[in-house]
Amino acid sequence: MKIAVAKESMEGEKRVALVPDSVKKLSKAGYEIIVEKEAGLKASFYDEEYKEAGASILDNFAQTVQNADIIFKVRPPTVQEIEALPEGSTLISFQDIINKKDNLALFEKKKLNTLAVEFIPRITLAQSMDVLSSMATVAGYRAVLEGVHLLQRFMPMLMTAAGTIPPAKVLVLGAGVAGLQAIATAKRLGAVVEAFDVRPAAKEQVESLGAKFVEMELDESMQDDQGYAKEASEEFIRKEMELIHKHLQKADLCITTAQVFGKKAPILVKDYMVKDMRRGSVIIDLAAEQGGNCELTRAGEIVEENGVFVYGPKDLISTMAEPASRMYSKNMENLILYLLKDKEAIDFDAEDEIIRRTTVTKQGVLVSELVKKILGG
Ligand code: NAD
Repeated sequence: MKIAVAKESMEGEKRVALVPDSVKKLSKAGYEIIVEKEAGLKASFYDEEYKEAGASILDNFAQTVQNADIIFKVRPPTVQEIEALPEGSTLISFQDIINKKDNLALFEKKKLNTLAVEFIPRITLAQSMDVLSSMATVAGYRAVLEGVHLLQRFMPMLMTAAGTIPPAKVLVLGAGVAGLQAIATAKRLGAVVEAFDVRPAAKEQVESLGAKFVEMELDESMQDDQGYAKEASEEFIRKEMELIHKHLQKADLCITTAQVFGKKAPILVKDYMVKDMRRGSVIIDLAAEQGGNCELTRAGEIVEENGVFVYGPKDLISTMAEPASRMYSKNMENLILYLLKDKEAIDFDAEDEIIRRTTVTKQGVLVSELVKKILGG
C-alpha cells in the first residue's frame, strides 16, 4: 500500500496534508509513504524530517503519485493533477464539488475513488477526523488577531496612572466552532464579548465562555438534525439585522462567521450599518470566501468606509500553516487508519456512515447522495 503526499499547488496555500509525525505513524503501521519535494516547507516541515520519519521524497507531483494507491492533498485537485493520478487510485482532500462540478467527469474518466474531507460527518465516532472543526478553530483564533491588528485600541481594560482605559467591545456573529474560538480568544485578551447565533444550542455555549448572548426569539426549527443552521427566512434576517445594527454601534470589533451548509453566506451587515459604526472600529468577515456576511466585504482586501475597516481575509488558515497542517494531518491519520482497519485496501462499505458520507466517487461513479442532492437542487 503506497500513500502519496502532494505539495499544494494553489497560490497562497501553505498547508501540507500529512506532517512528519503522521508519516512516522503510518510508516510504522507498514505503509510506504512518498512525499513530494518541499511539500511541507511552507508549513515549516522539512524534507529531511519526512525522510527521518520513513518517507521517500520525489521531485514533482507526477512522480510522487504515479504508483500511489492513496493520495493526500488539502485543496481540491487541479485538472492537471487529476490527469496525473493513476487510474483507480484514491484521492483524499477537500473537493469543493459545488464549485468544481467538472471534476466529476474527470474522476469518472480515471475511475478514481474520491473522498471529500469536508463531508466527514460531525458524529462522535468521527470527531478525531473532523477537519472542518480543526480549520475553524484556527480561523476563529486568527480572526481575532487580524482584528486586533487593525484596531487602534487596547483589548483589555487598563488601569494606569494616566487613567483607566475601558476594554474593547467585541461582537461575534455566528457561534459555531470558529465563532466560539473567536469568543474565547477575545476573552483571553480581555475584551467584553457578546455573540449571536440562530441555533438555540449556541446560547449555552456562548455563555459558558463568559460572553453575553444577544437575545432574540429563536425557533428550534432553525437547527437541522446534524446540528447545523438552516437557512433563515427573509423576515428572520430582517429582524436579526435590526438587532445587529443596534449592537454594532457599540462594538469596536465585529467578527462574522455565519454560514449555512451548501448555501451562500447570509448578508447580516449592510453598508448603512457599517456607516453607523464608530470610526476606527473593525469588521473581520470569516465568510468572505463564501460571499461574505458584510455587504462591503471584498475577499482578501481591507475596505475602509467612513473610518471603519472591513476585512474579509483569504487563505487565513495558511497564516498559521504549521499548526493547521498538524491538525489536518492528525485528522487524516485517524481517517486513514479507520478506513484501512489494518487491511491492504479501503473497503468502500456503504453501511459505514463515515465512508458513505465522505465518498464522492467510487471507481469514478458518483455515489454521494449529498452531492447528487446539491447538484440536483
Ligand atoms: P458553520 O461554519 O456552518 O456556520 C457557522 C455558524 O453560523 C453556525 O453556528 C451557524 O448556526 C451560524 N449561522 C448561520 N446562519 C446564521 C445567521 N443568519 N445568523 C447568525 N448565525 C448564523 O458551522 P460549524 O461551526 O461548522 O458548526 C456548527 C454546528 O455543527 C456546531 O455548533 C455543532 O452543533 C455542529 N458540530 C458538531 C460536531 C460534532 O458533533 N462532532 C462537530 C462540529 C460541529
